[in-house]
Amino acid sequence: MAGAAVVSLVMVAGATSAFGAGAAGSTGTGRVFLPNPVADLQDQSLTDQKDADYAALQPAYHDVTLRNLDGSGYLTGRWANVRGSTGPLAYSPTDTFLYDRSDDRFEQVMAYHWVTESQRYIQRLGFGVTRRPINKESQDLRINQYGIDNSFSWDKKDYLRFGKGGVDDAEDAEVILHEYGHAMHDSQVPGFGSALEAGAIGEGFSDYWAVTVSAVVAPTPDPACVADWDAVSYTSRVPHCLRRVDGDLHYPEDLVGQVHADGRIWSRALWDIRNALGATRADTLILQGQFAFAPDTSMPAAAAATVEAAQRVYGSSTATTVRSVFRARGLL
Ligand SMILES: [Zn+2]
Repeated sequence: MAGAAVVSLVMVAGATSAFGAGAAGSTGTGRVFLPNPVADLQDQSLTDQKDADYAALQPAYHDVTLRNLDGSGYLTGRWANVRGSTGPLAYSPTDTFLYDRSDDRFEQVMAYHWVTESQRYIQRLGFGVTRRPINKESQDLRINQYGIDNSFSWDKKDYLRFGKGGVDDAEDAEVILHEYGHAMHDSQVPGFGSALEAGAIGEGFSDYWAVTVSAVVAPTPDPACVADWDAVSYTSRVPHCLRRVDGDLHYPEDLVGQVHADGRIWSRALWDIRNALGATRADTLILQGQFAFAPDTSMPAAAAATVEAAQRVYGSSTATTVRSVFRARGLL
């Protein structure tokens, strides 16, 4: 009976959507991590245990509204669609997707939800509404297909693919958001990342995007730690983080010629802008600035473009703040 009550609520929510059912699609219910068990429960002792569901993880499951579904019963919708997976595609005629992490369909729900919320946040900032769109399309998602513990965004085919191995990558919202960050850059500047520093900006921005969206949608006490749950499989140091966005690296002497490592100079600058201006202003001017990046931009050129965007969107005092942040990193 509880199930029937949930179903009727969901249908009412879909029918009364402000955009009308046709434009916004229907809503459903999904069980997800917000953004991941380690960050949510503040428990650094959690481990993968071979994809098992277990007692200590139970408080990390949250039932959320899945938005913009197309009503087909699959996890396909306006801003995300799950096209491939090991095992069956999740299907529910009532759009009710309640799985635990040992079920491969759980990662499908995670990817659908977090990609959709990411695009909705972009639009709340005005992109695709009063500003130019950013990846405003249904993002193709392939889940658990890549045999090793790595995920990637492939602009040629325009899909995000998430790996298994250790914690399944799509069990951590911050891995999903990181990959979506690459898709955003590809959408804003075709061919972005064709030189080493541009590649580092791509990684740094994607780390930043992971934590800024995560902190908006599901705030946790250590927001600067990226992918706290995915990282339990390959880090021994506590807290477990794939990387952090609050490190103290300086340009150019801390460059090592590796995009993920060097990207930390960029992500720290973006993080400082956010801490100075708040998420809405910071993310708006950061995304606006990215339209002007060359595919092979240097970090100083990208910093200058970001200051220019701050000036254009918010005026001199905001531009001054942004400039001083980049100066502190050695980027201007
Ligand atoms: Zn990346």
